[in-house]
Amino acid sequence: MKFNSRESFFKGLQADQGQPLVIAGPCSAESEEQVMQTAEALKQQHVHLFRAGIWKPRTRPGSFEGVGTKGLAWLARVKQELGLKVSTEVATAKHVEEALKHGIDVLWIGARTTVNPFAVQEIADALQGVNVPVLVKNPVNPDLALWIGALERIYRAGVTNLAAIHRGFSSYQKSKYRNVPLWQIPIELKAQYQDLPVIVDPSHIGGSRDLLFPISQKALDLGYDGVMIETHPRPDEALSDATQQVTPARLAEVLGQLQVRKTNY
Ligand code: PEP
Ligand code: MN
Repeated sequence: MKFNSRESFFKGLQADQGQPLVIAGPCSAESEEQVMQTAEALKQQHVHLFRAGIWKPRTRPGSFEGVGTKGLAWLARVKQELGLKVSTEVATAKHVEEALKHGIDVLWIGARTTVNPFAVQEIADALQGVNVPVLVKNPVNPDLALWIGALERIYRAGVTNLAAIHRGFSSYQKSKYRNVPLWQIPIELKAQYQDLPVIVDPSHIGGSRDLLFPISQKALDLGYDGVMIETHPRPDEALSDATQQVTPARLAEVLGQLQVRKTNY
C-alpha cells in the first residue's frame, strides 16, 4: 500500500511544505474558557491545527476522563470564531460520528487504540465515504506492523489525508523519557512510506517540558514533517499531563529555536 498524502495533507491545513506543521493545544479540553483562551493565543502564533482531547483514555480509573461530547461545541466555537482548524481523539465509531457532526476538521487515533485492530476497524468503518484527515499515533508497544496495519485500515476506508504521529513507546525500564522514542521504528516507517507525513509528539515522548526542544529538534533533523505539542494557559493546573504542557508563550520560544533543514523534500 502506498500512502500518497504529504502534499494534500499540508495543503488541507494551509501549511507550507518547507516548514514544520505545528499542531498545538491542551492535552484535554477542560472548560470553554480554557479552550478559548488557549486557542486565541495559538491563533496569534499561526499554528496549523488546534488539538484538544474530549474523551481521555486514562491508564487507571478515577482520574479525569475528559469532558465528553459537550467539549465538541467548544472546538466548534474555536473553528467558527477564530478560523482555526480543530482536531480531537476518537476511539470508537460513536466518537467519530459525534466529532463529524460538530465539524471537527481532523481526527486522531490514540496510542491505546492503535494497538487494537477491532477498535481501529470500527473507526475505519465509521469513516467509510467521509475522507476526513486522520492522524494515527504509534501503538504503545514497539510494533511497527501494528502501526502500519492501523494506517492501512483507515486508508482502505477511503481516507487519503493520513499522517503518522510518533509519541514513543511504553517501557518498564527506567528512562528519562515518559515513552522511549526508539527512533529506528519511525525511521523505518518513513523509509517504507516516503510520502506519508510523520509528526513528532515530544510532549508524550518526554513527559516533561525540558525535553520538548531536544526531541523536536532531533525529529526535524531526521526529516519529520511537524510537531504536536501540548499547550495550556496554566500548565501546572492541568487536569491531565500537567508536567509536559507548556504555555503558549513557551511554545513560541521552543518553535522559535527549532532549526529546519531545508533539504527534506
Ligand atoms: C493525548 O494526545 O493526549 C494522548 C492521550 O496521547 P497518546 O494516545 O499518545 O497517549
Ligand atoms: Mn496528553
